[in-house]
Amino acid sequence: MKHVLITGGSRGIGAACVEAFAKRGYKVTFTYNKSEDAAVALAEKTGATPIFCDLAVVENIEAAIKEAGEVDILINNAGVSHVGLITDISEEEYRYLMAVNTDAPFFVSRGVLPHMIRQQWGAIVNISSMWGAVGASCEVAYSASKAAVIGFTKALAKEVGPSGVRVNCILPGVIATDMNAHLSEEDLKVLADETPLCRIGRPEEVAEAAVYLAEATFVTGQCLSVDGGFIG
Ligand code: NAP
Repeated sequence: MKHVLITGGSRGIGAACVEAFAKRGYKVTFTYNKSEDAAVALAEKTGATPIFCDLAVVENIEAAIKEAGEVDILINNAGVSHVGLITDISEEEYRYLMAVNTDAPFFVSRGVLPHMIRQQWGAIVNISSMWGAVGASCEVAYSASKAAVIGFTKALAKEVGPSGVRVNCILPGVIATDMNAHLSEEDLKVLADETPLCRIGRPEEVAEAAVYLAEATFVTGQCLSVDGGFIG
């Protein structure tokens, strides 16, 4: 039974990934940070194992990887957003966002790769964003952090492909999670209207793409848009 590690599995897209992989019989471990109650409830529902980890702290990452044990499939999902002008973001906010969105996928991947390389099989799926590909006004730091994940995906795919490890990423569009809870009904309607499929997405729809990329044995270095056609 393959072992999947999902970061930020307590809520949103990560929680949908926990459910999707558990449903298919994978052994699932997921990390949580602040949402302990949600993590415990999801663990009870799915049989997955929750591990505490503040992904902004590299020592936490190393401890979590040790606790998780050997991982065959990694879903680098956890992320934070920041909405505001570049002139209004503090250094602390910027560093935290980059630590969670960009540095953590790097260090978690670095931690789980030795086992994947030893067994000549592994899959890493990074959750980037459509804004990482095209950029969003008032989300400059977020867009930059997600663009870095795309570059990371493409470079790592080339480096570890010869070792049987595949690395891909997903570019979600607007998905109905807490990350978009700050948006008004009207904002959400405008975003839905701009989407060719005329609606925003569901976390489960991103999770299905993560399962596909984890299992697609001849696909690597790819960015799969799951955005209802938003960026075309
Ligand atoms: P969400 O509902 O806000 O959930 C975020 C998850 O990340 C939570 O499980 C949270 O854990 C975890 N997390 C945040 N900071 C953390 C930290 N310092 N250490 C450990 N875990 C941390 O967000 P979501 O919408 O599901 O987003 C999931 C991923 O998809 C993110 O990478 C996001 O950038 C990306 N994405 C989302 C959308 C969208 O429209 N929703 C679009 C494009 C890309 P706790 O609650 O336990 O702290």
